[in-house]
Amino acid sequence: MSVWSQVVGQPAAVAELQAAAARAARVRFSDEDNDGAPGGAGMTHSWLFTGPPGSGRSVAARAFAAALQCPDEGCGSCTACRTVMAGTHADVREIVPEGLSISVKEVRTTIDVAARRPTTARWQIVIVEDADRLTEQASNALLKSVEEPAERTVFLLCCPSEHPDDISVTIRSRCRAVRLRTPAPEAIAAVLVERDGIPEADATWAASVCGGHIGRARRLARVPEAREERDAVLALPRSLRSAADAFAASDAMVGAAEAEAAALAASRDEVEREELAVSLGAGGTGKGTAQAQRSARAAEKDLEKRQKSRLTRTKRDALDRALVDLAGYYRDVLARGLGASVTSTHPDRATEIGNAARDSTPEASLRRLEAILACRDALAANVKPEIAIDALVTALRTG
Ligand SMILES: [Zn+2]
Repeated sequence: MSVWSQVVGQPAAVAELQAAAARAARVRFSDEDNDGAPGGAGMTHSWLFTGPPGSGRSVAARAFAAALQCPDEGCGSCTACRTVMAGTHADVREIVPEGLSISVKEVRTTIDVAARRPTTARWQIVIVEDADRLTEQASNALLKSVEEPAERTVFLLCCPSEHPDDISVTIRSRCRAVRLRTPAPEAIAAVLVERDGIPEADATWAASVCGGHIGRARRLARVPEAREERDAVLALPRSLRSAADAFAASDAMVGAAEAEAAALAASRDEVEREELAVSLGAGGTGKGTAQAQRSARAAEKDLEKRQKSRLTRTKRDALDRALVDLAGYYRDVLARGLGASVTSTHPDRATEIGNAARDSTPEASLRRLEAILACRDALAANVKPEIAIDALVTALRTG
C-alpha cells in the first residue's frame, strides 16, 4: 500500500502531489552532475496544504514528504516511507504546536537544522502543522527561509485556509497551494474499515456523524466516552425548556471538556516531568549544585508553563468540537425547516431534528447558529468557558 492510500477522499490533490513528487525526483543539485543548471532548479520549495479540520492536511503533507524521500516516490514499505509516516525520519522535521501558538524560538531552532544538508535523504523537509498558530514573530522568521530556501530544503505548511487570518499574505504568495476538501462519508467509512479494522456498521455510522473529520470518526467509532460526550452535547437543545435543565446541561458540557483535557494532560505531564528530572540528574549534590539547581528550577518552570498552555488548548479544542456538533444540529433544523435537501450533519437524530424544525422557525434557528458562532469567538478571545457557555444557553433558550 503506497503512502497515498492514507490520504482519504482527495483524488485531485493526490494526483497533483504524485506528479510533483515525480518531477522532484528528477531535480539535480549543485554537487551533482546537473549540466551547469543551478542546484535545486525546478523544485517548488514551499507548499501550503489547506482544508477544513479533519480533512487530513498533515497526513497529506507527510505522505508528500515520504514520496519526496522514498526512492520509489512513496512506495509505503521502505524505511524512508515508514519513518516519515511515523514522524521519526532524520531529515523530516515537524513543528507541532502544543500550546496555543508556535513560538519564534521553536521556528528558529527548526529552521537552523533545515538549512543544513540532509543526513541520508535527498531533501531536508520541515512540516509545520497548524501554521495558523504561528505568532507574528515566528511567521516573520519563517518567511525569511521561505523566501530564500537552501537548495535541498522543502517547507510543507498546513492550515485551515488561505485567508490572511490563517496565514500571512507574504508567506502565502510564496507557496504553491494544495487544496483538500471535506472527504465524503463513504471514503471515511472505507478507511476506518480497511485501515483501522472497525466493523462496517460502526464505521458507516461514525463516518455519517463526524462532519467530515476523519480523526473524529475514528474516535467516535472506538471510544465510548466520545459517544457519550456527543450525546451530552446533543441533549442540550432538548433541555432548553427548563432553565435548570439547560444550565445543568451546559455545566456538563464544560465539565466534559475539562475532564477530557485533564485526563490527556495527566498521562502526558507526569511522563514529561520524569523525563526532565532524569535529564537534569535528579538528586545530585556537591560542588556547583547551586547553579545547577537554579537552571533546573528554570527548566521546571518552563515545562510547567508549556503544560499549562497545552491544557488550555486541549480544553478549548474539546469545547470547540462540542460547539461544532451543536451548530450542526441547528444547521440540520434550519435545513429541515426550509425543506432543503442537503446531507444532514446528524442523520441519526433525524426524528428529533424534524420535531425541532416543526416547533421553531428558520429565523430562530439562524439566531441560535449566530449565538453559537459568537460563543466560539468569545472562547477564542479568552472569555472564561463557564461565562461564554452560560451566555450561549441564555441565547439558545430565547431562540
Ligand atoms: Zn518508499
